Amino acid sequence: MNRRSEQDKNSERERRVFVTRPIAEPAIHRLAAMVRVDLWDDEMPPPPAELRARARQADGVLSMVTDRFDAATIRALPRLRAISNLAVGVDNIDLAAATRAGVAVGHTPGILTETTADLAFGLLMAAARRIAEGDRYVRTGRWRTWGPKVMLGRDIHGATLGIIGWGAIGQAMARRAAGFGMRVLYLPGQRMARSARSRRLRASADAGSATPESVSLERLLTESDFVSLHVPLTAATRHMIGEAEFATMKRTAILINTARGAIVDPSALAGALRAGRLAGAGLDVTDPEPISANDPLLKLPNVVITPHIGSASHATRLKMAELAVDNLIDVFEGRRPRHCANPTVKLR
Ligand code: NAP
Repeated sequence: MNRRSEQDKNSERERRVFVTRPIAEPAIHRLAAMVRVDLWDDEMPPPPAELRARARQADGVLSMVTDRFDAATIRALPRLRAISNLAVGVDNIDLAAATRAGVAVGHTPGILTETTADLAFGLLMAAARRIAEGDRYVRTGRWRTWGPKVMLGRDIHGATLGIIGWGAIGQAMARRAAGFGMRVLYLPGQRMARSARSRRLRASADAGSATPESVSLERLLTESDFVSLHVPLTAATRHMIGEAEFATMKRTAILINTARGAIVDPSALAGALRAGRLAGAGLDVTDPEPISANDPLLKLPNVVITPHIGSASHATRLKMAELAVDNLIDVFEGRRPRHCANPTVKLR
């Protein structure tokens, strides 16, 4: 072995990565074979002061959506070179501050798309057909007989689904909807804006067909029986769905949110559901998380809530852990992470 590769090996051994929660073992073992791993081995996340103290000693952090890296925290971590988030969303990290500091931010898009869309469609079905409510009804001994008006819900087949966030998960949701014979409307994002005119022409040609149709937010809200959110949480999407949007939606509509809780104004959501201005909601994300046990939403029978488990399948969480490790190794080998959320970063 020449002197250069010997030196590289030594510096690799000195490298430290703080892993903020137990993740899939094969990924941890692979990481531990290359660097020193400091593992936060607890069900609960490290408290902010602990996160900062551990990350101060680290060259990389393998983080979760529950770990907040604001500008002050990032400034306090001069040794840190990479934050590798076990998620596609990076709203827990101040990307501009990370870029200024030369800290690469890795994330895990793509591999969780289908798993998350499965859950989103599952919530749609559960809310439309009152599956969780029906289960509670049976368990609490209220099922006395078959009844012609018992637990009536809403049809999914033939209904209109409005997708806000026409990215990987939004389009995976549309593929599921096609199997149910749904009509799909979607709100185009910024990157699609350049070709907006040609899309409008195409959209009108598509009218009446099963092809997803690009429409304005107002038309999407007005015409959809189900509205499903798939945008990232940014300054532009925070509280994107509030009182005005609920007032525009059909009273029979159901909202599905598997994106981020703060995209919806929580008090407007509770108000619309309570007042019967919205028929139901299927939520995998809330604001705040976890939702308080006293939250008014939990009193409403027409809301189905899961604890932010969109990507939580065995296979997908393993792939996410492996990819999060790959992203870190890329940085230690002098490259940007293969999935980099701040691609303009100049590595430290
Ligand atoms: P993605 O492929 O980047 O799609 C996001 C889409 O949103 C893009 O097409 C983007 O379009 C669009 N968009 C952004 N801002 C918009 C705006 N203001 N108006 C309209 N469209 C806008 O991401 P993804 O993989 O589908 O994931 C979407 C989000 O789901 C993530 O950011 C994450 O927060 C959430 N998620 C949650 C779970 C869970 O466990 N529940 C799991 C995975 C992901 P342009 O780029 O063209 O603007």
